[in-house]
Amino acid sequence: MGKEKKRKLKKPGKNWKKFWKLGADEFNTQFFNISKEGDLMVNEGHHIYNLHGLAKKYGTPLQVVFPFVIEDRLKDLIGYFQAYIKIYGYKGKFFYHYPMKVNQNKEFILPLLSEGANLEVTSANELWLVKKLWEGEKFNNKIRVLCNGPKTDQYLDLIEELRSKGMTIIPIIEGPEEIERLSKYKGDIGIRVDLSIKADTHWDKKFDRFGLSEKDVLNLDKMKNLKILHYHLGSQIKTQKSIFDGIKHAFTIYVELQKTHPNLDTLDIGGGFGIPYEKKKFYTAKGVSSKIIKILKNLSDKAGIKHPNLAVEWGQYVVAPAQVTIYKVISKKMIPKANARAWYIIDGSFMNDLKDTWAIHQKWHTIPANNMYGDLKTVWFAGSSCDSDDKYTAGGNYILMPKISEDQDQYVAILDTGAYQDSLASHHCLLSAPMKILAQDGMITIARKRESPETIGKLFGWNGEHK
Ligand SMILES: *Cc1c(COP(=O)(O)O)cnc(C)c1O
Repeated sequence: MGKEKKRKLKKPGKNWKKFWKLGADEFNTQFFNISKEGDLMVNEGHHIYNLHGLAKKYGTPLQVVFPFVIEDRLKDLIGYFQAYIKIYGYKGKFFYHYPMKVNQNKEFILPLLSEGANLEVTSANELWLVKKLWEGEKFNNKIRVLCNGPKTDQYLDLIEELRSKGMTIIPIIEGPEEIERLSKYKGDIGIRVDLSIKADTHWDKKFDRFGLSEKDVLNLDKMKNLKILHYHLGSQIKTQKSIFDGIKHAFTIYVELQKTHPNLDTLDIGGGFGIPYEKKKFYTAKGVSSKIIKILKNLSDKAGIKHPNLAVEWGQYVVAPAQVTIYKVISKKMIPKANARAWYIIDGSFMNDLKDTWAIHQKWHTIPANNMYGDLKTVWFAGSSCDSDDKYTAGGNYILMPKISEDQDQYVAILDTGAYQDSLASHHCLLSAPMKILAQDGMITIARKRESPETIGKLFGWNGEHK
């Protein structure tokens, strides 16, 4: 029997905050801290939240949403673009559109609206929520709504209805048959182009089914109300160069298309700005926004055209860091020969609650929520479902966690879970979704109660009489 390879654990030294990559702007962890007792803390100005305390009080699995993070991030982002527009003397306007599909929960949408976000929707049902907000007079009349995705009749009818009620609602043509359907549309329209270049992202598919080819866009018959050229390269773009390359390439099409469509005045560069999930060096919104304005200014001046208005749909960038998911470790099991020594089994599910762990092998910053100065151990996490895919191994590597002690529960916090996971979530093995609380202005409110067996049973048609 060979002796197991001895692992060299990284030594935390004295600076535990740095060791857990907390308190750092470049990692979006500037509002995290560690208490004297070793608990994970969040600061909202002078308000503080103890995540270990919240987990004990409300139970786990638990999602904690911080609306102030959403507000801060959006305010900063809009601020960068507006500042660089001024600095470089750029003449186009800037529009931020929040892509609703990233997180449609009310506790995310309302703070975004309060900071002046416009919206981008992908389906009739998302647009229906927008209609409800509009009817509830929750909107400034100036809000702009972009409609992407394939247009069903129901979707098109709703677009028409909202336009006739006075909303600035702009359908983005997604396929050839929509050209016909939208030819009589009275408001502004946009068109989505499937750029022929490749970006550095998981979604850089060889065959993209979205939008029209560059050739088809350039051969469009004249549409007087065509105002926006839109593209989207995919989420979590790995390098800023890919973002710039997309803009430079799309600009060549913008210039050509404007020759046949002189009313075209807006370039919509879609989403894709990434998050440093792994807390490694990453590009920044400040740097990228500056470069984008510079690129667009230089290119338009060279081409002798008016500076285009710029629409940006960075969703994940704004909302991912606003939510933390907390689990309790309920048991551990040794792993004989692997990169990690033990399974830590949690009281929730990666496969259900953090679906991208399973779908795209998403890596998460996974840290203890208590006992943060404890002796460390290399672990893998397993979820509570019966599925062997319900696990998180940091890509086959290991995660550092405190050793479990007899006299204290161990909690684990997973950072940056605010994007996409909620609407992808499911009920494998009929596990309950995490309870969700909001931490705002020093107060806690419950946004989603813990699901009871009855609630979950109902989702599967068990309405009381269990026959
Ligand atoms: C998904 C999507 C976005 C948001 O992408 P992020 O990576 O979250 O920024 C924006 N625009 C369109 C058209 C999308 O499909």
